[in-house]
Formats: sequence, structure tokens, C-alpha cells
Amino acid sequence: MIVDRQERLLAAVADRGLDAMLVTDLVNVRYMTGYVGSNGAAVLAPDRRLLFTDSRYLVKARAETRGVEVRPAGRDLLGAAAAELADLGGRVGIEADHVTLSHHARLVEALPDVELVPVSGMVEDLRVRKEPEEVELMRRAAAIADDALEALVAEPIVGRSEAEVAWTLESALRAAGAEGASFPIIVAGAANGAVPHHASGREPVPPGTLVVVDLGAVVEGYASDSSRTFATGPLPEPLERAYAVCLEAQAAALAAVRPGIGTTELDAVARDMITEAGFGDAFGHGLGHGVGLEIHERPWLRREGDGTLEAGMMVTIEPGIYLEGLGGVRIEDLVLVTEDGGAPLGRFPKTLMTLPARRGGGG
Ligand code: ZN
Repeated sequence: MIVDRQERLLAAVADRGLDAMLVTDLVNVRYMTGYVGSNGAAVLAPDRRLLFTDSRYLVKARAETRGVEVRPAGRDLLGAAAAELADLGGRVGIEADHVTLSHHARLVEALPDVELVPVSGMVEDLRVRKEPEEVELMRRAAAIADDALEALVAEPIVGRSEAEVAWTLESALRAAGAEGASFPIIVAGAANGAVPHHASGREPVPPGTLVVVDLGAVVEGYASDSSRTFATGPLPEPLERAYAVCLEAQAAALAAVRPGIGTTELDAVARDMITEAGFGDAFGHGLGHGVGLEIHERPWLRREGDGTLEAGMMVTIEPGIYLEGLGGVRIEDLVLVTEDGGAPLGRFPKTLMTLPARRGGGG
């Protein structure tokens, strides 16, 4: 499958009238070659497919890459790649979203006879449609995150700190075979839940409020992403209503997932319902995003944009309602866009669950 990706990229390279592509973003290098490491660059041309890395990674790179020749580059990766490109000549695509100004200056200096063409999203555009093997890895990651949540809700969390609860979840992910969490796990109780990307802190989770839990696992480089919101006792009326509205909006957006729907159209399915319920100002972020080798990647489900969903894309559906000073709710599923709809990867229930306040029901 990696070699197929190279064929698809080279077809796009030819379409744009380029002679070669220099791939330097490490996630894109991984996708295009199979190389996993902290120092690597790929030169991809019709008659030359090369991966440059240093001595720390050579043995591993030769084992894990497909379709490329691995070349030792010492400490000067860019210099080695530039020497190869000088030999190729012509028009060379470079990753406009990833090449630093200093690296660009070096390439310009090293390649007086090459036309460097900044291009955006050439590899990312390939990454949006997942291959069956990628879907399977994400399915495993999602299942591991579900299992961690299941173990969590079997225990009381009131009175424990957000950070401790987050660590319990992360430990469970690792124990189940994940490489780690796909981002710092969010546990946000009471007013902290109104901050969408709250950093789990030392405060204990209080009773009688909502707690947002947002987590994901990584399996062989592929991320999952899901959120659930729990009650820790009887709720103030606005939080109870916010949960019901968010749940309904999330279900409607999930049901609307299908190839051909516009990303803004899908965002509006959930947003209009939340707005009609009077919470429009409390839903600041987009409906969702793509997930894969990166936790946030194309496509973006937002109020603005011009994208369209296609079969094989993997997106989150995660409306939220954030009531400053009071609390928040977010309900999120990772969904595969299929030929005729959407197939959520997770299986964790979404009806409002009240977590027990103490161990063993009264000990
Ligand atoms: Zn997300």
C-alpha cells in the first residue's frame, strides 16, 4: 500500500508539471515511505525514490520502508537531499506548509539550477481517504479508548483530581497495548468543562455537575479521538438541558454523514439545532476534523470552507456547549464515511450517565 501511495503522489506530481517532490514533514515522510523516526526526508521522482536519514535510524529504516532506497545522510539531511535534487534538475515541489524559512534559504542556495515550487497539501490530500489497513488500526485505537472509559466509569471519580483521572485513563490505554494517548487527555469538571481544551488540573471533580472526558489512543501511529460527558449527581437545569441538546445535535450530525455532503452543510446540521435551542454562542469550535496519523488533519468540518465528504474519510463529530463559569458538554465520535453513510468506530453509550459518588455504594 505504501508503494501505491508513491504512485498516486507521482501522478499528482506529474499533473502539476513537477519533476520531483521533496517531502520533509515527518508525518508525510512516514505516510509516503513507512519510515518512523525523528530525522528523515524523502525525494520522490519517477525514476528515483529515496529516503535520507542518519546512522541512528538506518537499520530500522531499511526494515520498515517500502519502495524507497534508504541513503545515509549524516547530520546534514537537507544537504544530502539537495545534492540529489541538483542532479535531477527541473521543477521540484517542496512542502509550503512545512519547510522553514531557513531551510528554504539553504535549498535556494544549494540549487541554483532547480526551480523550487512551493506546493500545499499534496501528501495530505492522499492521507484523507483511509485504506482498509488504516481503518483497522484506528478501529483498534478506538476500542482501546472505549475499554479505558468503561473501566473508568466503574469507579467513583468525584473527589479525585482531574489529572489523576486523566492518568488512570492513559495508563489503561498503555496497558491495553496503545503506544500512548493521541493528545493530552482532557478531564474537565464543573466550570473547567466550559474550556474546550482545558488542561486537566489538580482540582478534585465536584459532585452535582458535568465532567467532560476527551481521549484517544495511538496504535501503530494512528490516532483515535472520542469524548463523553458524565454527570456526578443531580445537575443544575442549564447543564441538564445543554446535555440533551448536544446529544440530539450529535445524533443528527452523525445521521447526516455521507459521501457528497459539504463540510459546512454537515456543521450546520448540529449548529442550527444548538442555535435554535438558544446555545448558539456557546458552541465556538467546528463540528469536527479528520483524524489519522495526526490527531487533527484534513478534512475540517467548520462553519466556513468548501470541502465535501468522500467515502474513506475518517472524521470526528463533536458538537459542544460551553457555559462559562458553569460547565460544559461535548459528545464526540470518530466516524468512517462509508459508501452510503457513516459508521462510528466507538460503541460507548451516550445517554447521560451519572457516575457513583463513592466506592461500592456507601463504603
Ligand atoms: Zn476531536
